[in-house]
This record gives sequence, structure tokens and C-alpha cells, in this order.
Amino acid sequence: MARRGIPQETKTIILIKSKRRCAFCFGLDNNTDEQEGQIAHINHNNSDNNEDNLVWLCLKHHNKYDSTTSQSKNYTKEELIIYRDKLYEYMKPINTEKKDKENNEKAIFNINTAFNNIGDFYNLKGEYDTTIDEKNRIKIPIMLHEYIGNTIMVTKGINFLIICNNSIWNEMEIVNKERINNLPEKERMDFYRKYLSSAEPLDVDTKTGRIIIKPYLIEYADLKNQCKIICVKNHLEIWNIERYKKYLECIESE
Ligand SMILES: [Zn+2]
Repeated sequence: MARRGIPQETKTIILIKSKRRCAFCFGLDNNTDEQEGQIAHINHNNSDNNEDNLVWLCLKHHNKYDSTTSQSKNYTKEELIIYRDKLYEYMKPINTEKKDKENNEKAIFNINTAFNNIGDFYNLKGEYDTTIDEKNRIKIPIMLHEYIGNTIMVTKGINFLIICNNSIWNEMEIVNKERINNLPEKERMDFYRKYLSSAEPLDVDTKTGRIIIKPYLIEYADLKNQCKIICVKNHLEIWNIERYKKYLECIESE
């Protein structure tokens, strides 16, 4: 049976949306370079030429994706669709208004901006009182256990600590990669040193919801006894309670 080729119009849509970036290169390796490649059929049905079933893949990943040998990595349809959709989002043309806004923000690009730039998958809300004990253990409230999972990332915020789950962290790095790379040399290095270098994965004691924070991070955020956990859409902040009060007073008097 002769199989129908992909209509030219559909091909053009895929090429424009992907800008010839491979969805696996992007999703697995954060690689946003243009790739020699082909349009692949996500459900492996070559006569299903719906736009939703199509994706631009580099030759290497196309082969791997279509291969059914036991050595293949068995890339799944589900992950491919997620990578493709994130890639399209990432590749959307930047309109001038957004560009102006970015230019204005350039000077103050920091970890808050980086987290603001990603989607609100969780829409976390609320604030919680917690404590840090003499063994540097902080208890995460039970309502947040589902969000934090087994391991979390912790890094410096701006006078507080940032905690997020691994998928949000990865998302933050992917979404901001280009932005960080385009920062002037000094700001880029500052960003790496301050926020990314101090980031590390922490195991969560899933029974108690406790995490153990490294002393230098405790010192940085000046955490002692009473702390506040503030939910900010997709991540958590841990504050020294006095600092948080002062911060609130400041924004109220603005
Ligand atoms: Zn690829």
C-alpha cells in the first residue's frame, strides 16, 4: 500500500515550530543547536500525519527512537511528546515587548527571575512555621511531601534558601539556559557561583519529611530555631523568621 507523505503544509509547521531542533537533544541534553534530521512519527504509524503525531528528530535519535532492538534505550512516546512541547514553547519567537522586558530585567536577573520564567505546574501557596534543630534538620510540613518527593534541590536564594523538586530544578535550568548564557560575562559567572554552584540534591527522610541542611547554607540564610517556609508557585523558600518579618514590613511600607 502506498503510504501518503506528510503534506507540505504540515512539514512547514513542524520545521518552523521546532526550528530544526531535535526534541530528544533538547529534552535529554539541553542541546538547542540546529540538527540535521527528519520528521518522525511519534506513534510509529507512518500514515498518521497529524501534526500532533510528528516531531523533528536528529538522525541519531530518530534511529534510536524507531529501533526496537534490545540494545535500544526504549525511548517512550510519552517522554518524546513532553520534550517536543517544551521545545516548541522554548522556540516561540520572542516578540519585541518581551525583549524589552528582558532587557530591562537583564540587570537584575537572579534566581527569583529564573524560577519566575518557568510554568506554574504546582501553583504552591501558603506559608508554614517550622523549626531547625541542632542537627541542622528542618521538617517539611506534610502538605508539601508530595511535592518534594525523595530528593530535592536546595540552593541559595536572596537571603533565604530555595528548595524545589528535581523536575522543577531541571525545568529552571532548561528554560533559563539561553538567558544565562547571554548574560554579560561577570553576571553570568556571578549567577553560576552564587546560585548554581551551591545547589545540591538532598535526600528527604520520607517518614518524617526531614531534610538536613549543610552548615554553610544555614549560615547564609541565618536560620535558627524558628523558620518560615514560604510556597512560591513552583518552589519553596526557607526564611529566618525575623528576616521574613522585616521583608514584609518593607514591602508594606513601599
Ligand atoms: Zn537528537
